[in-house]
Amino acid sequence: MTGRPGSVAVVGGGISGLAAAHRLRALLGPQAQITVLETDDRLGGKLRTVELAGHQVDVGAEAFIARRPEVPDLLTELGLVDQLVTPAGRSPMLRAGGRNQPMPARTLMGIPSDAQSVATVVGPDTLARIEAEPATPLSWDPGADMSVGELVARRFGREVVERSVDPLLGGVYSGSADTIGVRAALPTLAAALDAGAPSLIDAVARALPPQRPGPVFGALRDGYGALLAALAARSGARTLLGTKASGLRKTATGWWIDPVGEVDAVVLAVPAPALTALLAGPCPEGARAAGAVQVASSAVIALALPASAPVPEHSGLLVATGESLTAKAFTFSSRKWPHLEFPDATMVRVSVGRFGDSAVVQADDDSLVSRARADLATATGVEAAPLAAHVQRWHGGLPQYAAGHLAVVDRIDAAVASLSGLAVAGATFDGVGVPACVARAHRVVDELVTQWAWAPGQRA
Ligand SMILES: Cc1cc2nc3c(=O)[nH]c(=O)nc-3n(C[C@H](O)[C@H](O)[C@H](O)COP(=O)(O)OP(=O)(O)OC[C@H]3O[C@@H](n4cnc5c(N)ncnc54)[C@H](O)[C@@H]3O)c2cc1C
Repeated sequence: MTGRPGSVAVVGGGISGLAAAHRLRALLGPQAQITVLETDDRLGGKLRTVELAGHQVDVGAEAFIARRPEVPDLLTELGLVDQLVTPAGRSPMLRAGGRNQPMPARTLMGIPSDAQSVATVVGPDTLARIEAEPATPLSWDPGADMSVGELVARRFGREVVERSVDPLLGGVYSGSADTIGVRAALPTLAAALDAGAPSLIDAVARALPPQRPGPVFGALRDGYGALLAALAARSGARTLLGTKASGLRKTATGWWIDPVGEVDAVVLAVPAPALTALLAGPCPEGARAAGAVQVASSAVIALALPASAPVPEHSGLLVATGESLTAKAFTFSSRKWPHLEFPDATMVRVSVGRFGDSAVVQADDDSLVSRARADLATATGVEAAPLAAHVQRWHGGLPQYAAGHLAVVDRIDAAVASLSGLAVAGATFDGVGVPACVARAHRVVDELVTQWAWAPGQRA
């Protein structure tokens, strides 16, 4: 037996699986047999670049937090650093109460650090309540968790939840403040509350990240497809598209997974429902924990409008809960990103669907495009007929990090840790963003290979 796994199956060809395969190759060398199994007929999972009116546009994730090192580091490693682009710097807007207004400043995911920061989006009663909040003692048990919606509603009222917090959390998780927990989604806020912040205003002020110069977000000039292609190529993995992994079980010397057969080790990089199914046999406790993670469906309607369309000079428009629109967000892509400014088309993305409201995602393409156009007209006055449109549905696109999510993750991790040669990655675990997925994939692969090197003869 060697000090390294010679064959590894990676289940899931999204960014987590591809980052894992690429890292495995770097650590195991050219001899290792790395196989990526992917149910779909393409790699990428929630990353997808399509051609629209002759241009490459992302219809899943479109950006990443550039202040985190993972994606820039990966681009450097892959020789793709010239792909890194940053936004034009235009500001987003918020639609609340039927009006478009500037996005509240100095908030933590929409939770105000003072009343004035949300003065334009809430009424006078709510403003007075926020101003009075520090006078009411805050009760918070260190280590506790609750939904962001419950916490904010208790202190500031529902209007702040629906008009300021929901639009931001809806953008990241396709959920709402009521389906997302404080501890997983806003760890710095949980830390401030644990440390005894006397009010939510005070906790938010402590939790806000320090202002730093430079762009927060980055993207790839040719879309995420460029990163996916490079990862797949450099991993040298055998890629089995249209292949659903099933039947995972431990063997005397490694793992069995259908339809690949026996391998030394397995990395599962799939969404929570698939993880639940794959762990059910070999790791029932992990499966039970993963089964508690719910997922939200959404759809992106990408529109290529005529170049002359009077799309607002803003990066986008987030929509508060309760507005009479189907859309939850608009991204004015050609205004947001210099690399998407074209002489012959203006690109706009319209996002629909939140957790608990998946019916809209089932609508047919024509009606989704019609609704997207109608909402765009209502919210911005832009009525131009698109030159081209692409409808991308994301069934189960984003996990809901509900209150108690970190404990769920700990349970899955503890159960999986008892089985050598098995690792779990994906958006279920340490964050839904692409950088967090890459970080998790790298970490679990590093641990898998290190443990193997130390204890090759002691596999369970
Ligand atoms: C609309 C949308 C917009 C987003 N925008 C951003 C953004 O701007 N920035 C950002 O950082 N993040 C964004 N995200 C989040 C981010 O894109 C995802 O969290 C991330 O891409 C998930 O990657 P993953 O590899 O963990 O999972 P996935 O992309 O879900 O990949 C998992 C893969 O596993 C496959 N699979 C499942 N079961 C099996 C099986 N049994 N056998 C074989 N294969 C299987 C699936 O087909 C899938 O391809 C967005 C997400 C969505 C849905």
